[in-house]
Amino acid sequence: MREALGRIKSIKSLKILRSIRLRIFLCVFILGILPCIFMRYFILSSYESRIVSVRTGQVQALLHVVSDRLISTDYLRSPANPEMSGELTEFANQIGGRIMVVGPDLKVLADTYKKSEGSLVVSGDVVRCLRQGNRAATSRYDREDNFIELFMPVGGVSDGSDAQAVPFGLGRSGRQVDGVIMASVSTNEIETTLELLRRRTLLLEIILILVLFFIAVFVASILLEPFERLTGAIRDVQAGFTTDDIDVGSYTETEHIGDAFNQVLGRMRTMDESRQEFVSNVSHELKTPMTSMKVLADSLLQQGDMVPPEMYREFLQDIDDELDRENKMISELLSLAKMDRRQVSMNVTDVNINELAEIVMRRVRPLARQKDIELTMVSEREITAQVDEVKMTMVFTNLIENAVKYNREHGSVHVTLNSDHRNFTFTVEDTGVGIPQESLDRIFDRFYRVDKSRSREIGGTGLGLSITRSAVLLHKGTIEVESEEGVGTRFIVTIPLRKQSEG
Ligand code: ADP
Repeated sequence: MREALGRIKSIKSLKILRSIRLRIFLCVFILGILPCIFMRYFILSSYESRIVSVRTGQVQALLHVVSDRLISTDYLRSPANPEMSGELTEFANQIGGRIMVVGPDLKVLADTYKKSEGSLVVSGDVVRCLRQGNRAATSRYDREDNFIELFMPVGGVSDGSDAQAVPFGLGRSGRQVDGVIMASVSTNEIETTLELLRRRTLLLEIILILVLFFIAVFVASILLEPFERLTGAIRDVQAGFTTDDIDVGSYTETEHIGDAFNQVLGRMRTMDESRQEFVSNVSHELKTPMTSMKVLADSLLQQGDMVPPEMYREFLQDIDDELDRENKMISELLSLAKMDRRQVSMNVTDVNINELAEIVMRRVRPLARQKDIELTMVSEREITAQVDEVKMTMVFTNLIENAVKYNREHGSVHVTLNSDHRNFTFTVEDTGVGIPQESLDRIFDRFYRVDKSRSREIGGTGLGLSITRSAVLLHKGTIEVESEEGVGTRFIVTIPLRKQSEG
């Protein structure tokens, strides 16, 4: 059993059977062939039964005549009638078969083959004929031995006076007949005609099967043609011959596949563009501090031995600042790359969010003081959440620092903490320069800065908000921004209180 199942499985996994072309071919071919086979069988068998029934009808008509003659000559009561025997032989020749006359005592009175005269016939059909009279006239077609057998009752007895003489209780019914005519005719000619017909229809069937074979091949390739074109178009894109969207709209199915493929293509294009942009941004950003350092070092070297020590110190300090910036950028890029690949391990613990926000506020306060910026925080309730403390600190620090960095002198930054039964919300609102509407979508992109020179001036890398967003997404949270130029900006971060399961 298991072996058989295994064999079926291995047949199913045969590559050729997985082909939709083969399946369509088989469907068309088999659906075409079946009616042909049934039709041939139906035509042959209905022709055979028709021809047999015609032949039976002819013989029956003749047997009626024989029956009438037997009654008129009272042959059954006095069978010693050579004239009638001769007639019987003639009748038998007319039907091309054998005629036997059986009396009511089942004894054979006449046999045109002269073989069974005087012997007893024990046959169900004869007994039935004797019992049931004219209703029991029967015929039987023996296909195996090629003959038709007919049984016909002769006359009838109404007074039942002879009933006692009749064996097998035939007298009880009161419907006895005088005797039965048995006839058998050969059906060899029918068989010959049928054989001829069989051969002709077989030839026709073979021709039809061949035609159907080509029709099935043709239909399968016509139906699959759009899929072939689709595969070709996808291959062209894969080989790099074209980057255009593919369009195979012959079927709804191919259209859907094409649309899905075009969407993937679109995503790949966007990814490719952003990868190229990212690489050129990285090279540019990393090169900028290098160029500054080169300029600083070159100008020191050109001065020769005449450089005063203060100038050395000043230039070295600048080179040190540039190195810090380069360092910061590289470590930020590394942590972003890690978060992108989800390689970063999340060290989730129960963290008091109010305390964490307080600590960050305390750290940023000196920076705010330099610009006389008022830093306030309102905690609506005590919040404890399952988060990665380091990453959450990074999120809070980046947002509060940005709110201070991109603020005006004597401005203010307001932080709000709140929660419901599922999430906590952290809002940072400032009275700074704001972000133009068209840049709102892009500020989370790597290296995107609204005002490049201003950001550089205040030590920005353009990576802070990308890192912030990645950290928020790792917590399965959301980050939104609202801003009005010259008025201020509000960042809203929502994080689930409990750690979300993967997926
Ligand atoms: P940067 O290191 O330049 O601060 P970020 O990724 O943190 O990089 O921010 C990207 C850009 O978004 C900034 O250069 C700035 O133009 C803008 N931005 C961020 N936060 C604010 C804010 N609170 N107010 C106005 N602009 C902001």
